[in-house]
Amino acid sequence: MNSRLIDRVIRASLWFAAVALLSFSTRADSPMLESKVPVIIAHRGASGYLPEHTLEAKGMAHSQGADFLEQDLVLTKDDVPVVLHDIHLDTVTDVAQVFPGRARPDGRYYAIDFTLAEIRQLAVSERFDPKTGKAVFPNRFPPHTGRFRIPTFEEEIQFIQGLNKSTGRMAGIYPEIKQPEFHHQAGKDITAIVLPILNQYGYTTKQAPCFVQCFDHRELLRIRNEFDSQLRLVQLLSEKEIKKAREQSEGLGGFCQEIAQYADGIGPPLTAVFPDAASASAGSSELIEAAHAAGLLVHPWTYRADQLASGFHSFEELHRASIHAGVDGLFSDFPDQSWFCIQQ
Ligand code: CA
Repeated sequence: MNSRLIDRVIRASLWFAAVALLSFSTRADSPMLESKVPVIIAHRGASGYLPEHTLEAKGMAHSQGADFLEQDLVLTKDDVPVVLHDIHLDTVTDVAQVFPGRARPDGRYYAIDFTLAEIRQLAVSERFDPKTGKAVFPNRFPPHTGRFRIPTFEEEIQFIQGLNKSTGRMAGIYPEIKQPEFHHQAGKDITAIVLPILNQYGYTTKQAPCFVQCFDHRELLRIRNEFDSQLRLVQLLSEKEIKKAREQSEGLGGFCQEIAQYADGIGPPLTAVFPDAASASAGSSELIEAAHAAGLLVHPWTYRADQLASGFHSFEELHRASIHAGVDGLFSDFPDQSWFCIQQ
């Protein structure tokens, strides 16, 4: 065997040993336990391998040892939360072929304009550019093939809780309320629909294996105050917001203190965690220091083996730097590879 093949065999054996070990590890039994290693959040499922947000991608992520499985939530016309990354359907489904003429004047097909019965008729594909039909990530699952569907939020919770029971390995959920203002403008209160579902399936307390995430701080404030939810909340942040905070007199410290009034953690882009080559190579992050000083967890996005964050030369190096900098959790498209990197 050549050395590359030997290396692959060794890695494969280690992987199977790791999976076996997972079934017995305390960390895997409960994603809630305090842990020195970052938790792995499967970003839209194991989306590096299967079309994002399909139950297949979630099943794979569960078997790959992800601690949490992410759901992005939008409402259908008949007010059912479905698991879909965008308010649009046209970048991951065949909606343009199945329902021609149902696009809005901007050329986009909005999930909110379709009933659940209609959405159930759509085939989900690996993400593609609707203009060219070409895959966004060319080395992932081939687009426009396979038989995949958009699940409802409830179907996905049942699927995950079923796997938790049958495997004995607990994976948490990590729902995101997508574009609440867009929903409000359409006369829909997505949060008021999602929270009772969480409640119904047992996600009610701070100890529940669940994080609720949103970019809109007003909606997180509503969840905490108006709905009086005890669930852990994660304030998602854009690079622009963090850059602005750095430039203000209170700096990142003041910014994080403010968020800590209502949230338990932040979800920043990796570009804001490691904004330059120096912070990347040193594995140090001003943002993480400020967040931790305010008592906030830090769960950055997105760890992609096939699209490395700038300043890094390998997936392993990115994970090493993240652990050194104190990251508490990471949104990964490749849960198995993240798990492997973390164990190094
Ligand atoms: Ca998301």
